Amino acid sequence: MDHFLYRDGMLHAEDVPLSEIAAEVGTPCYVYSTATLTRHFRLFDEALSGMDHLVCYAMKAASNQAILKLMASLGAGMDVVSGGEYARAIAAGVPGDKIVFSGVGKTREEMTAALKGGVRQFNLESEPEMEALNEVALSLGVVAPVTVRVNPDVDAKTHAKIATGKSENKFGIPISRAPEVYGRIAQMKGLKAVGIDVHIGSQLTDLEPYRQAFTKVKELTQVLRDQGHDIIRLDLGGGLGIPYDRGNSAPPLPVEYGALVREVLGDTGCEIEIEPGRLIAGNAGIMLSKVIYVKEGEGRNFLILDGAMNDLIRPAMYEAHHDIVPLVEPAPGAEQSPYDIVGPVCETGDTFAKGRNMPVLKADDLVAFRSAGAYGAVMASEYNTRPLIPEVLVHGDQFAVIRSRPSYEEIINRDTLPGWM
Ligand SMILES: *Cc1c(COP(=O)(O)O)cnc(C)c1O
Repeated sequence: MDHFLYRDGMLHAEDVPLSEIAAEVGTPCYVYSTATLTRHFRLFDEALSGMDHLVCYAMKAASNQAILKLMASLGAGMDVVSGGEYARAIAAGVPGDKIVFSGVGKTREEMTAALKGGVRQFNLESEPEMEALNEVALSLGVVAPVTVRVNPDVDAKTHAKIATGKSENKFGIPISRAPEVYGRIAQMKGLKAVGIDVHIGSQLTDLEPYRQAFTKVKELTQVLRDQGHDIIRLDLGGGLGIPYDRGNSAPPLPVEYGALVREVLGDTGCEIEIEPGRLIAGNAGIMLSKVIYVKEGEGRNFLILDGAMNDLIRPAMYEAHHDIVPLVEPAPGAEQSPYDIVGPVCETGDTFAKGRNMPVLKADDLVAFRSAGAYGAVMASEYNTRPLIPEVLVHGDQFAVIRSRPSYEEIINRDTLPGWM
């Protein structure tokens, strides 16, 4: 459920008509709902109630400072995957002991920053990384709390570009090698293993792969404990999917996911960490865009929007579907027409949808891309020197620009000329 609904014939974000935001901020832009973000965080938090747990928001999904501050105010921890994200989390006031550091290629600089600033744990992804962290920790005279991300070799049944839990993926250490790897960690004075980490992919729409992965993690917990390792924490990653296409059956709910966690892992006595990103932010954001032209092609009509693949890359990158709806509510039974919906960027891949049935639209009409809150703004680029589009946060009947559109001058001034020119 989200808070983008038609009211009096106009799509609203909570109590704000989106036409008002389009007029004031301009298009394209992203708009997020505080109420939806809050609701989704709480769904996870409540789904794990009764178990010692921490919901670490996977901030790579949407990492604006305002969103992070909101999450932090709700009690969220953060899952970060780079030094930049770590700095963002700290800047938003997240305490270091609630920050989990994930990612396959952490550098020594990133490790140093996190050890100095405070970190809950590093989720290690390889043995060379383990050795590097050990050295960094020893040089700082500290002990780094770690888990090892195990690759359980289960099929998450999601898009190939976001599946991470098969043995052919670059992520984690094969689960069969874990006992040996934890044995090595026990020999390293700069590291202390506190738990196990697993994250099998994103946009999962079925709980079965989770059940398989969690079951393997549970077995491993016992094996490691029998070897004398003090496993007190299980980080289960994120990945629960959202209904991008309202015509399809809905993916499992956080409460069902939570029930599975309790069923499989409830008796381990471990603290549970989860790292949801998409489910918290995805349906809490939309991208607003305007029709520039309606172009009649041969056998098809194109809706040319002011939003493009550089603003929202998911359709080009993952063949992702986004519902695209007009801001003005169509009358019941209104005439529909199939459109190829495209942006102005000079790439054929700059196509959001093909043959999509839409109410008849004309130049200057406004549309909203639903479910664009996660992996939207954060993946945007300035390709074609199109400025990064603004982000807006709505709260009840108020809204605020939380990242403004840079001017062309600001963009150009980021370049510097070499001395010989
Ligand atoms: C991307 C990622 C997440 C979040 O995945 P969602 O599908 O957005 O929930 C969590 N943990 C790790 C390690 C990730 O890489």
